Amino acid sequence: MNYDAIVIGAGMSGLAAGIRLAMFDKKVVILEKHSIPGGLNSYYQRRNFQKGGIRQFDVGLHALTNFIKKGEKAKPFSKLLKQLRLSYDDFKLCPQTYSKILFPGVELKFSNDFELLLSEVSEKFPKEMDQFLSLVEKVKGFNELDLSLGYQSSREVLKSMISDELLIEMLLCPLLIYGSAWEDDMDFAQFVIMFKSLYFEGFSRPQGGVRTIISLMMKKIEELGGEIRFKSPVNSILTRNGRSIGVNVGGEEIFAPVILSSIGYPETCRITPELAEKVSPRVGAMTFLESIFVFDKKIMPSQNDSTIIFYNNQKKYNYRPAAHYFDDSSAVVCFPDNYEIQNQEGEGTVRVTYMANYDQWRNLERVDYDQKKEEVGSSALSLVKKLSPGFDGELLFQDIFSPLTIERYTWHLNGTVYGSIDKTRDGSTPVSGLFIIGTDQGFLGIVGAILSGISLANLHGLMGAEG
Ligand SMILES: Cc1cc2nc3c(=O)[nH]c(=O)nc-3n(C[C@H](O)[C@H](O)[C@H](O)COP(=O)(O)OP(=O)(O)OC[C@H]3O[C@@H](n4cnc5c(N)ncnc54)[C@H](O)[C@@H]3O)c2cc1C
Repeated sequence: MNYDAIVIGAGMSGLAAGIRLAMFDKKVVILEKHSIPGGLNSYYQRRNFQKGGIRQFDVGLHALTNFIKKGEKAKPFSKLLKQLRLSYDDFKLCPQTYSKILFPGVELKFSNDFELLLSEVSEKFPKEMDQFLSLVEKVKGFNELDLSLGYQSSREVLKSMISDELLIEMLLCPLLIYGSAWEDDMDFAQFVIMFKSLYFEGFSRPQGGVRTIISLMMKKIEELGGEIRFKSPVNSILTRNGRSIGVNVGGEEIFAPVILSSIGYPETCRITPELAEKVSPRVGAMTFLESIFVFDKKIMPSQNDSTIIFYNNQKKYNYRPAAHYFDDSSAVVCFPDNYEIQNQEGEGTVRVTYMANYDQWRNLERVDYDQKKEEVGSSALSLVKKLSPGFDGELLFQDIFSPLTIERYTWHLNGTVYGSIDKTRDGSTPVSGLFIIGTDQGFLGIVGAILSGISLANLHGLMGAEG
């Protein structure tokens, strides 16, 4: 069977690429190994142990980054809307109240108005204000979308501009945990992307969580006549004379001059022998544990009114695989009920993310695995209580997923969330016609992955497969 393009993976980048190609009447098929779309940002069902009902949970959604107000133009999210022909209103975005970076004895608040962070830095780090403003100017003037840029250490750049190490650690904390494949550091272009996405633009959440985003994209694909096949694992990418020609999916061979792979660069090498002979991108080590708690009531604004807390209990922020299964010296604590607080009635939900160590989780026996997850749950629950003083909600349900869960459902080696530390920034590979989209093109998170899928579909699917 012949297509104009094959997209591997129905995560955020794959769905977006499929929409763009179908929109211009390309014959495109999206092949997805799982039975549902969404990839790293999908959803799953669990039986509620106390009330007996079935619940659906988002795998990952804490925050949609790159918030814009309706009508704002020339921003990543407005580009996404325009390119996918989606309407702002369909997302039903609820903006954050504010979030905070909480270190011992000092906190920095930020919101969807950059002025808040400016005033916080000015108040808490008055001696650093001029340097911080210079950093802001540097970020504003930096072209992070220049695909020819090489790796530059953000820590080095920050050290050359800011003297107070605590401020450097605090600024880096949310940016690293929301988007760095590298341990303890990140590429400066990625730092700029994240700085703009989190600090300049900010967070919101679609009212229906990640399912709103997925169903909008699935509906669009359907309307455009794009083809999507679930439970369709690509076993190998077929090549001839240095060029990709098609894929083997469940024993069937299908052919196309352009293949866009969103499954990760090392993972793509694994199923493409000719590519593996030429490159060996390293598998990243950053993976996480996510605990989800449902309480019988919501946390009151007087107990905690922030949307996300980036918590660290020491002066240095250690962004690296946990030394011992999970690292509870830092966490991201997300209070989804605190997006535009409206209704104090009903159940409350909190999500807690810890850094994890894939190798240790992989080597656990089943009984120890369950026991370790219990340890994670009780540690995360204590943290929620500590950050919400006075909250006495009854726990109705908890679920914890580990790096092994991430690996099992997304097939990312080592359960890595931010992919390889060897990105291919222009998406090209040494095999012509085969391109990497999404996380390992270096654009991650929901908005980043969607924009990656759009731009590479535009470049290689709509303008020819000269690569
Ligand atoms: C716990 C957690 C929390 C997160 N929180 C946020 C957040 O709050 N905000 C945010 O913006 N981002 C968040 N992210 C990150 C975000 O989810 C990802 O950066 C983004 O979804 C990546 O999309 P992608 O298209 O690059 O890749 P993926 O989502 O990994 O998509 C790849 C797809 O390929 C499929 N696949 C794999 N192998 C094969 C094969 N051989 N054949 C066919 N299909 C295959 C997979 O099943 C998957 O569907 C979070 C991630 C996690 C895990």
